[in-house]
Amino acid sequence: MVATIVTIMNEIYLDANATSPVLPAAIAAADAVMRDGFGNPSSTHCTGLRARATLDAVRQRACRLLGVGAGRLTFTSGATEGIQTAVLSALCAIRDRRARGEATGDLLLYGATEHKAVPETLAHWNRLLGTGLELRQLPVDTYGRHQLDVLRALAPRAAMVCTMAANNETGVISDLDGIAAVLCASGTEAYWMVDSVQALGKLELNLSATRIDYAPFSGHKLYAPKGIGMLYVRQGAPYTPLMCGGGQEAGQRAGTENMAGVAALGAVLEALENGAMRSHAQLDAYRARLAEALRGALPGIVFNAPFGQALATTLNFSVPGLSGKELLDLFDAAGVRVSAGSACSSAKAAPSYVLEAMQLPHWRCAAAVRMSFGPMADDDFIDAACARIAHCGEALRKAGLLPSDGQALAGDGIVQMSVAGESTWLILDAASASCVIIDPLAALAPRIADLMRCQGYRVRAVLATGADTSGREALLARLDHQPDAPTIAVRLANGAQAEAVAIGGQLLATLPQPAGALYLLGRADGAVLAAAAIGFAFVGAARTPDLAGVAAAGTILCGAHDAGAVALLGAAADDGTALGHAVDAAALDDFLAAHPGAMLIDVREPFEHAAAGAGSWHGRPACSVPLSRLAGQAGQWLRSERRPLVFFCRSGARGETAARCLHRLGYRNAWHVSGNFSLN
Ligand code: PLP
Repeated sequence: MVATIVTIMNEIYLDANATSPVLPAAIAAADAVMRDGFGNPSSTHCTGLRARATLDAVRQRACRLLGVGAGRLTFTSGATEGIQTAVLSALCAIRDRRARGEATGDLLLYGATEHKAVPETLAHWNRLLGTGLELRQLPVDTYGRHQLDVLRALAPRAAMVCTMAANNETGVISDLDGIAAVLCASGTEAYWMVDSVQALGKLELNLSATRIDYAPFSGHKLYAPKGIGMLYVRQGAPYTPLMCGGGQEAGQRAGTENMAGVAALGAVLEALENGAMRSHAQLDAYRARLAEALRGALPGIVFNAPFGQALATTLNFSVPGLSGKELLDLFDAAGVRVSAGSACSSAKAAPSYVLEAMQLPHWRCAAAVRMSFGPMADDDFIDAACARIAHCGEALRKAGLLPSDGQALAGDGIVQMSVAGESTWLILDAASASCVIIDPLAALAPRIADLMRCQGYRVRAVLATGADTSGREALLARLDHQPDAPTIAVRLANGAQAEAVAIGGQLLATLPQPAGALYLLGRADGAVLAAAAIGFAFVGAARTPDLAGVAAAGTILCGAHDAGAVALLGAAADDGTALGHAVDAAALDDFLAAHPGAMLIDVREPFEHAAAGAGSWHGRPACSVPLSRLAGQAGQWLRSERRPLVFFCRSGARGETAARCLHRLGYRNAWHVSGNFSLN
């Protein structure tokens, strides 16, 4: 049943820890409540009483399932609200105790791998209430589990302790019994909150049998819609409502109840109670199959959490040589939805603080990917997921990013690789399987070395435009062969002699500069490199290089900064107004009908294009010109008839960059697809 939801639109949804699809029975229950059972549970007429009965029944079921005992269970909007309420309640109680002259601890202790909602909430209420307690992280070990010896040392000073039941990034399950034993042995009166979001439906819970004071839950992590959650409060634990008003939820949480959400959550809890979720053994077997598929597709993959101590529904991994963003793009192109284990933006990935707290090597923290599925996954779903994962591995091989027995996509032409706003340029020649690299960034050194190895390319020269040669050294240290291109003497158009290296039937001449060099690429006539023969100049950080008398107007300038890295010699400097035209996705068919000569161009990377198998879009052939190859291709477009070029990618961002770049180069008939669109 769930497999049919998660394969909607040909998607394999493997991001259940972020949010899950909604169970059809939950949709039906919400629908029924909105249509027929729409009453306000506080009303005393029959319509209201029916709503009250639904509310009570769902609460009873939740209490049974979670072992709430004599404690209380309040419906909330989600876990973040539950966390606010728990922290507010504990801090108000601590403040009151202090006001009465009673001793309390002075530390707000929280696990180093907690969801950000926890430390942020602690800091917020501590500040607002003026409690002046010290926030202190409880470190975890390399397996991601709380260091109990540190807890033992700090427990006597703790006023509140916050530890999650299972981690959302890694699935690591906390040793709650161990934590409880330490807290009990220390005799501390600290309040204990356990963020139980990722545990619901996956771990046995019998809350009233534990020392836990507060446990927030969230419906949308387990097949219920967003906007509904629960908060468990132990009998006798202090409580301060976050919201006051009409006295709903026995005065604990004012506001008319979200009955559609409650009913939907009730349907999920019913499924849970009726054993519709898979057993641990089944989920373990599913994880083993996914892990095997991943190992086959992504050689060198490392899993970032020990399987024996983590939820079987979460796999967190890193792959040497591939960034989290690249893996995410690859999976997305193949219709597999995963998330980068770290928050990441297009240019700069922030390493995962969870993996950093586990003291994993930096590259693993920066490149981590999380794959997570729900406990109602079935065999068909896992089969389909494994097949797609294998397909992703093939796409990487085809694109030359992994060793391949078959034919990798031949690398030829000019390729731009960017990290955090800086660019490296590769001049690749497929015929001679050789390459020249300009301004290698240290961060890209492993990636470039792997690329050369996988494609069987020989690096003929590694050059730098500036004085900093650290990237060059980092790359040279990783290459199997040292660059060996002999230098050739050429004469430039201004009569000056220059040194050059040969690549792909062209010469790359060095033009020394006061603090480095520029490089000119063109087809030489004998030992003369005429200005008109130069197609590209690699200019480093020089935005307006002085190439008078050496290169002709119209030479494509390849710079060091990826925003505006490509410009045209002789054109007015980019003032940031070149926008490219946008075509709204919804209007694309009309646009194409009105412009029969328009060319659709997929600017995603070759591995994404291969993973998507995307030879056409909107019934038109779509050619692949990755953004990284735009500079190399732009010259041809500029020389040809100005037919509409329509750039597209996954989210629209790279398509827009391509259209802007073409506009800047003077090609005004460049478009990008914007708005809400789907590629698979
Ligand atoms: N705690 C954990 C462990 C989570 O994974 C999340 C959601 O990502 C939250 C808290 C916040 O939950 P909600 O979205 O219901 O506010």
